[in-house]
Amino acid sequence: MDRELLEQTLADLGQPPYRARQVWERACAGAASYEEMTSLPKELRTQLTDRVPFSTLSPLQRREARDGTVKLLFQTADGHPVESVLMRYRDGRRSVCISTQSGCPLQCAFCASGQMGFKRNLSAWEIVEQALFFLREIGSAEGSHSGSEVTAESEPEPGERLSNAALMGMGEPLMNYEAVLTAVRALPDLGIGHRHTAISTAGWAPGIDRLTTEDLPVRLALSLHAPDDELRRRLMPVTARFPIAEVLAACKRFYDVRRRKVLVEYLMLAGVNDHREQARALVRLLNPKIFKLNLIPYNETGDGRGAFSGSSRPAIDAFREVLAKAGLEATVRVARGREIEAACGQLAGTAGTAGRT
Ligand code: SF4
Repeated sequence: MDRELLEQTLADLGQPPYRARQVWERACAGAASYEEMTSLPKELRTQLTDRVPFSTLSPLQRREARDGTVKLLFQTADGHPVESVLMRYRDGRRSVCISTQSGCPLQCAFCASGQMGFKRNLSAWEIVEQALFFLREIGSAEGSHSGSEVTAESEPEPGERLSNAALMGMGEPLMNYEAVLTAVRALPDLGIGHRHTAISTAGWAPGIDRLTTEDLPVRLALSLHAPDDELRRRLMPVTARFPIAEVLAACKRFYDVRRRKVLVEYLMLAGVNDHREQARALVRLLNPKIFKLNLIPYNETGDGRGAFSGSSRPAIDAFREVLAKAGLEATVRVARGREIEAACGQLAGTAGTAGRT
């Protein structure tokens, strides 16, 4: 739901100023259409249905993994793919990974979103709508898993709520800055506070500096994936524009001002970036007072045609040990939704319309 269009339409209809807020609050409470908003006059519900699309994203495909991870492939009103993922954790967190662009202009070598090219920026409301879909999905326990294989662990509980958001799906969020900030500011209405919202970047340094100036206690995540510029340029061409030193300096400024550690994401690619020497290089780069490192098992596309394969578990453990011995603690992300190709861009690829990890 485009809130600007909603507000303008309600004003044009001569409705009182509180109406827009009323409609929005009902949407954030899980209403799936204007018709369900029975506190609105019937005639107004019909007018809104005709004039303001309740959602501009159409779900095309839904996949659910045994661990409760759900991936949705949407299509925008003008026909572009958008992917979003819901992750359910044992500790009760319900985290959505949402896209900020359709496709991505940065073309990282390992990423299906990058390889499908750039379609367009998403609007703020297309970004929020992805979370709203999941809010409705988990908000109604009845029927929310119809036709899916679900373990007891992932059965929805009545009252299940979204708790976290990562702007980490398709696209580089800081290249769509205004829409991303508008969306982030709206997420608390869905129950997702700023402290539980992470904005991920491939290293768009001016965007990091801009984010530093915002009075928003969001978390910054940096997709690093290589400890030196030469390798990183091959994996992530954006490095030619913003070298590692420049990006880490911007992250340090973010930490100095916002006092929130920067989460560094490091995809573990077998034989590419998982050597012990590369772990030692990371130690030299990352001050543990400023950065937290997260090692990510690579989510392969599964068709055997990819240029990369994921590091083995022993290789990840050995890499982590080198880091730990040097005082740089790293977590290893628990792989979720592997069998549903949960990395962004993968589903669009298999659907023929086109992953980030
Ligand atoms: S990894 Fe992120 S920045 Fe790189 S191409 Fe994929 S979506 Fe874009």
